[in-house]
Amino acid sequence: MGKPTGFLEYPRELPLVRPPEERVRDWEEFHGHGDEALLRKQGARCMDCGVPFCHTGTLLAGMASGCPINNLIPEWNDLVYRGLWREALERLHKTNNFPEFTGRVCPAPCEGSCVLGISEPPVTIKAIECAIIDRGFEEGWVHPEPPSFRTGKRVAVVGSGPAGLACAAQLNRAGHWVTVFERADRIGGLLMYGIPNMKLDKRIVQRRVDLMAAEGVKFVTNCEVGKDYPGDQLRAEFDAVVLCGGATRPNDFFTKTEGRNLQGIHFAMEFLHSNTKSLLDSNHADGRYISAKGKDVVVIGGGDTGTDCVGTAIRQGCRSILQLEIVPRPPLTRAPDNPWPQWPKIYRLDYGQEEAKALWGDDPRRYAVQTTRFLGDERGHVRAIETVQVEWVKDNGRTVPRNIPGTEKIYPAQLVLLALGFSGPESQLLDQLGVEKDPRSNAKAEYGKYMTNVPGVFVAGDMRRGQSLVVWAIHEGRGAAREVDRYLMGETLLP
Ligand SMILES: Cc1cc2nc3c(=O)[nH]c(=O)nc-3n(C[C@H](O)[C@H](O)[C@H](O)COP(=O)(O)OP(=O)(O)OC[C@H]3O[C@@H](n4cnc5c(N)ncnc54)[C@H](O)[C@@H]3O)c2cc1C
Ligand code: SF4
Repeated sequence: MGKPTGFLEYPRELPLVRPPEERVRDWEEFHGHGDEALLRKQGARCMDCGVPFCHTGTLLAGMASGCPINNLIPEWNDLVYRGLWREALERLHKTNNFPEFTGRVCPAPCEGSCVLGISEPPVTIKAIECAIIDRGFEEGWVHPEPPSFRTGKRVAVVGSGPAGLACAAQLNRAGHWVTVFERADRIGGLLMYGIPNMKLDKRIVQRRVDLMAAEGVKFVTNCEVGKDYPGDQLRAEFDAVVLCGGATRPNDFFTKTEGRNLQGIHFAMEFLHSNTKSLLDSNHADGRYISAKGKDVVVIGGGDTGTDCVGTAIRQGCRSILQLEIVPRPPLTRAPDNPWPQWPKIYRLDYGQEEAKALWGDDPRRYAVQTTRFLGDERGHVRAIETVQVEWVKDNGRTVPRNIPGTEKIYPAQLVLLALGFSGPESQLLDQLGVEKDPRSNAKAEYGKYMTNVPGVFVAGDMRRGQSLVVWAIHEGRGAAREVDRYLMGETLLP
C-alpha cells in the first residue's frame, strides 16, 4: 500500500478539464492532464483494500460493479504513488489492451464501487489509468511487440470496434495470423465513428491501430463481410472466425408518431458518423455532414449517445439545444434501493450538458417528457415537436409512463436527433452463416465460451451482449480470443 494515511490527508482532486466556453470552439479533446504531484497524491488515497471491490467486475442489479476487465487497480495506484510509472504501465497492460480508450471514455464502474466511496469521494481511478498510459506513450515505453513465433493458423475478425481490436491483439499475441475486416473506411468501430473527437481523439485510436499493424495484424477496410466478402468464403479461408459487428440497429419508438417522416429527423449515429468523417476527411470543408448550425436542436434520449449529440451540435453552432428524457431526473445521491457497491444511479452533468449550461445557463435536459408529435413546415421539414409530461405509474406490476393532461408543450426544432439506443445486431451476416440468435436478437453464444452454434464461428462484444460499454467489449474480445486459441490449439495460455 502507498501511503496508509493518504485517504485521510488528501481530498479527491481531478485534473482540470478545458473550460466549456473555450473547448466548444474546436474539436480537440476536453480532457486535462494532471501534473505528477497531483496524480501521486491521488494514487496515495487508495487504501489497498483487503477486498478491492474496484476490480471485481460483477453485475449487480444489471449494472457493472467494479472493473469488467479486472484491472489491477490497487497495484497501479500504489506504483503511481511511488513514482514507478513504467511498472504501473506493465500492470495496466496485463488486463487492458487499450487503457488510452477506457481512460478517456469509460464511465468508471470501478469508482462507483471503490470502498473509499462509502464515506468519501472515491479514488480517481480513471484519471490515474489515463495518466499511466499517456505517459507510457510519451516516454516511448509502448512500442510494437510482435510475437516471437507463428502458429500458422489464420483467424478472421469481422468488425473493428473495441471487441474486434482486443480480440485481434490477443490472438496475434498468441501467434495466429489475424485479419480484421471493417466495412467503414477507417478502423475503430464506435471508437472511431461513434464517440466524437473531443471525447476520444481519433489520432489516439489510429495510433493503437498502427501499433497493432506493426505487430502483424492485417486490417482490411471498406469490406462488408456477407456482402463484399461472402461468409462461406471467409469460413473456407480462415481456421476460425470471430464476429464483432456491434449492435448497430437503432431503436425507433416513433414509427407510428405523427410527423416521423419529416425531413430533419435523424438517428444519432447518422449525425455523429457523418460529422466525424467529414472532420477527419476535410476539416468539414466537404460539407458532407448533417449540420446543426443556426438550428434549434432537440435530442431525444439520454446516455452517452445523447450527450455526444449535444456536444457535437454545440460545436457545429446550433442556436439552441434541448435534450428530452422520458425517465424522471435521478436523485443527487444514491437512492435506498441503489446501495454501494452498485453503480450509482445519480444525477450527473456530463460534458455536453456542462457545455450547454455554460452557454445558455441551464442543463438542456428535460425529464419525464414524452414526444407526441413532430410538426412540419410547408416544405416537409420538421419545425417543432410537441411533448407531454409523464408520470411513472404501476400497471400490472410494471412501471410505465402515463401522460399528464394539460402539460403539452411545443418546442421549435429544425433538427431532431433520435438517441434511443440500439435493438441489436444486423442479421444479414448472421443469417448467411447460420448463426442462431437469442430472444433479444443478439448472436447467441454462451458467456465465457463465445462460440456460436456454428463450429469455429465465435461472437463477442455488442453483437453478443447487446449495446454496452467499451470496457465490456474489450472484456469480451479478450475472452473470445482465449476460446479461439483453445479451439485452434487444444489449450491456451491467454487470460
Ligand atoms: C455514440 C456512442 C457513444 C458511446 N460512448 C461510449 C462511452 O463514452 N463509453 C463507453 O464505454 N461506451 C460508449 N458507447 C458504447 C460503446 O461504444 C460500444 O459498447 C462498443 O463500441 C461496442 O464495441 P464492439 O466492438 O462490440 O462494436 P462496435 O464498436 O459497434 O464495432 C462494430 C464494427 O463492426 C463493423 N461491422 C459490422 N458488420 C460488419 C460486417 N458485416 N463486415 C465488416 N464490418 C462490420 C461496424 O462497421 C463497426 O465498425 C457509445 C456508443 C455510441 C453509439
Ligand atoms: S476499492 Fe478504492 S480504495 Fe480500495 S483498493 Fe480499490 S481503488 Fe483502492
